[in-house]
Amino acid sequence: MKKVVKFGGSSLASAEQFRKVGEIIKADPDRVYVVPSAPGKRHSKDTKVTDMLYKTYELAKEGKDFGKQINDIKARYNEIIEGLGLGLDLSKEFETIEKNFREKAGPDYAASRGEYLNGIIMANYLGYEFIDSATVVRFDNNGDFDSETTNRLMTKKLEKTPKAVVPGFYGAYADGKIKTFSRGGSDITGSIVSRAIRADVYENWTDVSGFLVADPRIIDKPPYIETITYTELRELAYMGASVLHEDAIFPVRKEGIPINIRNTNKPEDPGTWIVESTAKKSKYVITGIAGKKGFCCVNVVKDQMNSEVGFVRRVLQAFEDQNISIEHVPSGIDTMTVFVQQDEFIDKEQAVVSEIHRLAHPDMLEIESDLALVAVVGRGMRATRGTAGRIFSALAHASVNVRMIDQGSSELNIIIGVETRDFEKAIAAIYDIFVTTQV
Ligand code: ADP
Ligand code: ASP
Ligand code: MG
Repeated sequence: MKKVVKFGGSSLASAEQFRKVGEIIKADPDRVYVVPSAPGKRHSKDTKVTDMLYKTYELAKEGKDFGKQINDIKARYNEIIEGLGLGLDLSKEFETIEKNFREKAGPDYAASRGEYLNGIIMANYLGYEFIDSATVVRFDNNGDFDSETTNRLMTKKLEKTPKAVVPGFYGAYADGKIKTFSRGGSDITGSIVSRAIRADVYENWTDVSGFLVADPRIIDKPPYIETITYTELRELAYMGASVLHEDAIFPVRKEGIPINIRNTNKPEDPGTWIVESTAKKSKYVITGIAGKKGFCCVNVVKDQMNSEVGFVRRVLQAFEDQNISIEHVPSGIDTMTVFVQQDEFIDKEQAVVSEIHRLAHPDMLEIESDLALVAVVGRGMRATRGTAGRIFSALAHASVNVRMIDQGSSELNIIIGVETRDFEKAIAAIYDIFVTTQV
């Protein structure tokens, strides 16, 4: 058996946390590849090293002095090195980093040093080989992750390296320039390593004992999900249940490798299993609920739009031309609504409006702001009648005004648009009927 273990920032925030991680790795000889994040928060008011690096680089970019900031970062690592009693000295590494900061190596380079340095410490602590992810994780010239080249490079390297530490979050272009994934991207690196070695399991160690049915900041002590499918997870992760990066399932899915979310602070807990498909029924009709604020929508009305060939395309063209991505497009006979992210849309709204008029000649157009989307996700919904109806009545009961309801064609998810001020209330109402009352 071969296992890949990824540890998140809070699992590696201090020497004490590093020790727990060391114990976990030593407890199972199958844990042969380790993917660390940068040191995270030690307590709720602390700052993640990744954020410190971004800030420090901002100063460097403006040509300002960043000595104090870089010393604070050094202190974070030295605390870990000293706490573990390692005879490791990172001063040469820091000289290079400072030089590259002054030469404006870019924010991606800056942020990537968080995992790079933590990887060096981890490899030293475990006695595993250190592999710089810049040599094995590849991005193409458009900045997109190049999965096949990466898989080739990674497989080749790991074949010769029986035990290694591969830092998360970054890779490089063909010319060696560093590029990171989006925030939380170490989860993706763990998945890439798992695919390359055809791991039996990808263990993702974090600070919760698995994936909760709902966000613990909104619902008091929701239960853990025992088993969830890749697709369900992606829907929930995209909608804000951010335990695992939503793109982390792609590499492992290619090899059907299960992901096991585990808690570094409670290693005895079984955690959540994320699998391709399962005969196991989830405990409730729904698997999970998640949601995000910060949306607005454009309602476009035109009599008999449904019989006008190309109308929808012309409306959507206006968004594409402004480079705005679209979340949902529920439609009726004479109306269609386009949901977009408010911060992406707001500066370009008037350009979009005039272009819709020019391209599609609607009768009326209206923008609504401050909306939230709630996703109710579950493989069990397909086999259960009346789920949408029950959601509606629960929301009506809670006096939540539903602005939109959209069921994905897979019947795996129902997306509900509500006003931002009703967001928490909507999640609580849905949770109550499907989980609290256990039907
Ligand atoms: P790591 O640093 O280990 O990658 P993250 O902070 O990325 O950890 O993810 C774990 C956090 O995700 C938890 O501490 C929790 O606050 C948050 N979270 C959001 N939604 C959920 C959910 N549905 N289930 C569990 N945790 C959730
Ligand atoms: N350290 C990076 C971040 O804070 C990547 C990660 O933690 O996965 O986003
Ligand atoms: Mg994370």
